[in-house]
Amino acid sequence: MYQVIARRFRPQTFKELLGHEAVVQTLKNSLKNNRLAQAYLFSGPRGTGKTSTARVFAKAINCDTRTPDFEPCNQCASCHDIKVGQSLDVIEIDGASNRGIDDVRKIIETVAIAASAGRHRIYIIDEVHMLTKEAFNALLKTLEEPPPKVLFLFATTEPHKVLPTIISRCQRFQLVRIPLATIVQKLKMIAASLNLNVDEEALQLIAKQAEGGLRDAESLFDQIIGYEEGAITSEKAARILGLPSIDSLFQISRLILEGNYSETAKLAQSIYLSGRDLGYFLENLTDHFRSLLLVKLQAHEPLALTAPLLKRYNEEQPLFDTETLIAFIEHTLKVQSESRHEPLNALRLEALFYKLIRLQKTVPLGQLIERLEALEKGNPMPVATKPAVAAPVAPPIRAPEPPKPAPPKIEPVSIPKPAAVIESFSIDPTPDEKDLKGMKPKKEVVVTTPSTPPPVVVSSTPPPPSGELPTAKLDTLLHFAAIELEGRITKK
Ligand SMILES: [Zn+2]
Repeated sequence: MYQVIARRFRPQTFKELLGHEAVVQTLKNSLKNNRLAQAYLFSGPRGTGKTSTARVFAKAINCDTRTPDFEPCNQCASCHDIKVGQSLDVIEIDGASNRGIDDVRKIIETVAIAASAGRHRIYIIDEVHMLTKEAFNALLKTLEEPPPKVLFLFATTEPHKVLPTIISRCQRFQLVRIPLATIVQKLKMIAASLNLNVDEEALQLIAKQAEGGLRDAESLFDQIIGYEEGAITSEKAARILGLPSIDSLFQISRLILEGNYSETAKLAQSIYLSGRDLGYFLENLTDHFRSLLLVKLQAHEPLALTAPLLKRYNEEQPLFDTETLIAFIEHTLKVQSESRHEPLNALRLEALFYKLIRLQKTVPLGQLIERLEALEKGNPMPVATKPAVAAPVAPPIRAPEPPKPAPPKIEPVSIPKPAAVIESFSIDPTPDEKDLKGMKPKKEVVVTTPSTPPPVVVSSTPPPPSGELPTAKLDTLLHFAAIELEGRITKK
């Protein structure tokens, strides 16, 4: 009979309880000093190992031949019985289905019965917060004065629902979410012992979905290996989990960067038609922007990216600026939270993509001020924060441009390529040539952009006479304002 991974690879020793070193150390110390409390409460997000910790601890308490490191031996009769769930001394109760006062009374009646051969009688109550108030109160009396060698180990995902009077009688342990790298490591170990060929990015994808819960990760892994034969790649894993592949996420951010409205519209349609869970998709897209941002900020350690993926993010991040990525994250999160009231559909997804393109085209105010200051100093090019060639130019994914409609009425400033927006800023001379007339060009400044069109030649502003705002400066201000407001200002 097939045994699910989570059961088959359930931790049997303290050492196998991953990500909870501090908790394990404290429990071992209490064994070492022979100072056991009467009740313990393990709380933490689901699937992080609360019940497993309680079980290993119970085993170690009752083990006949503990190792010198206070690990249960997993060989003696007591360890064996606990492992197969047949121990008469260690009783597991599901708080969710035994939540009433009568259920608790039955437990209490057995408390007085001595455990076998000088061992402890241990009650593990899972989801203890589910007990009714009356049940808690009945339990409280026993907790106040338990018979010798009786121990309660409680586990809960919602400690705030446990009566404070109960909590105050427990030694509390908060189990944290398991770090992504640790989950990946465990999945790798499982894959190796099952002789499975799984690439690391697939494991990472699974671990990410589990959000720090090892059991969830193991269930997802089960789902994938049940579905697929042969090597498991990240694409296959993504498909089975109904997630966008890493490639498609990079493709989306590229299209947004390029301001490719038509391709993003097509993409939104195809994502919608694929029947994927759009909420999941959005979560993944937000994560993708977060990865770009954190790699850019050199704060990506918690993401535990694989080396190839980190390389990819490192190559991509110079194309985006920090403010833009933050705006992307804010906006995708906003749409995610709105989707709780209004279900996501193709239109909303499209609208999101358009908004991201526009956010991306908007020059942050800070940069505008910098550029203005640079202009005042007679240097139209602000100090470049990064080299213009830093961004690797990947092959464009854009589709053939759709036929252009009537030329836009107000577009004093054209931003041909997003990469250029970040690095420099080009002024289209045609619409506003008249504005530049009458200005005495002091020198010719060549503004180059990474795009293919020939460099645009712009006359620099002469130093302003003191006391008045020169027309040239006003024009420049209007140019910038027009970009910031996306072309909604006209100069007559
Ligand atoms: Zn043992």
